[in-house]
Amino acid sequence: MNEIILLKLGEVVLKGLNRRSFEDRLNANIRRRLQHYGSFRVYSKQSTIYVEPQSGDCDLEGAYGACRQVFGIVAATRARACPKDKDAVFHCARSYLDQALRSARTFKVETKRADKHFPMNSMEISQYVGGLLHDAYPHLKVDVHKPELCVHVEIREKAAYVHGPSQPGAGGLPIGMGGTAVSLLSGGIDSPVSSYMIAKRGVQLELVHFFSPPYTSPQALEKVEKLARELTPWCGRMKLHIVPFTEIQEAIRRDCPEDHFTLIMRRFMMRLAEAVARRTGAKALVTGESLGQVASQTMDALAVSDQVCTLPVLRPVIGMDKTEIIAISRRIGTFDTSVLPYEDCCTVFTPRHPKTHPHLDEVLAYEQALDTEGLMERAMAGIERRTISMES
Ligand code: ATP
Ligand code: MG
Repeated sequence: MNEIILLKLGEVVLKGLNRRSFEDRLNANIRRRLQHYGSFRVYSKQSTIYVEPQSGDCDLEGAYGACRQVFGIVAATRARACPKDKDAVFHCARSYLDQALRSARTFKVETKRADKHFPMNSMEISQYVGGLLHDAYPHLKVDVHKPELCVHVEIREKAAYVHGPSQPGAGGLPIGMGGTAVSLLSGGIDSPVSSYMIAKRGVQLELVHFFSPPYTSPQALEKVEKLARELTPWCGRMKLHIVPFTEIQEAIRRDCPEDHFTLIMRRFMMRLAEAVARRTGAKALVTGESLGQVASQTMDALAVSDQVCTLPVLRPVIGMDKTEIIAISRRIGTFDTSVLPYEDCCTVFTPRHPKTHPHLDEVLAYEQALDTEGLMERAMAGIERRTISMES
């Protein structure tokens, strides 16, 4: 009989009356994610999702890795199915977990019996299978409290399943359950992490990137696209809105005091991101700002940039140190791309002494010199949209 994948639902199980829609969404997300790995049947029963290969050429290893990146799954394991018979279960455990049984020093068998018609209860099955395994691997000692290896047996409706320890899944909530947000994606380390963190809470992302040719190069744009693609195993397919930003930056440089360049530029970014949010039905903005990291990320500066928005601005890394952000970025696989040395529009025209404690009335007065509406209109009209998927 086939090997299958078992997935454990996380917070989805706490959702009470909404549980059905959460599960449906999660199963749909898993099905979409598994398209590249062959044909699978995906269905849920009793807080477990079953992923069953439908043909011999399915890439189970690939599918297993992919499932562990789907938000809403807290744990995953591969399991072998066998007939619902006590001796079949023993033989299955022996052949399937042979290596683990050889290398462990202590073990126990834990049985869950969903099929209450099965003639033995859970304890009896565990004792029977455990006894035979003990005979077959005499070096093993039983430890019911902290065994090195727990052999899991599940007696379900159609078959019995045997598996070893499970591995952690991505956690979080299924993408799509939390609405849509616009995430400002630069080429740096922080914004891929902040995007990942909000997507993890079930949010579909629209990505916005500001670029300023010729001050920023085509390679810088490629890098951002690559980062977006590296996020898709977690965040799913996304739209990347590429906003031309050169005219705005040149106008600011020409007409505003140097120490306010970055701040005023950031206010344009927030205005434009909010305009994209309105177009796409997104309900929040996401940035990778961390308190005090740079001049534009002091509380005063953040207040001045937020003043142009009405939507909530989510800043999931606001209280994190750079080292903590880097650890996540390594884990999710964006770090190596983030550190490629291409310039971002934030790094062109940077003031020598940026204002760290700006006053809103001063900023508003400086912006009087700019044709904000015209600049916004032209930037919005110049947006290029690319669909980012794992294959793109
Ligand atoms: P990151 O490491 O993500 O680049 P950072 O520490 O360099 O962040 P800033 O450059 O000040 O910080 O940018 C703060 C946030 O503003 C970024 O995390 C990102 O959300 C947004 N941002 C900055 N530059 C761009 C850009 N060119 N396009 C889109 N968003 C941007
Ligand atoms: Mg940056």
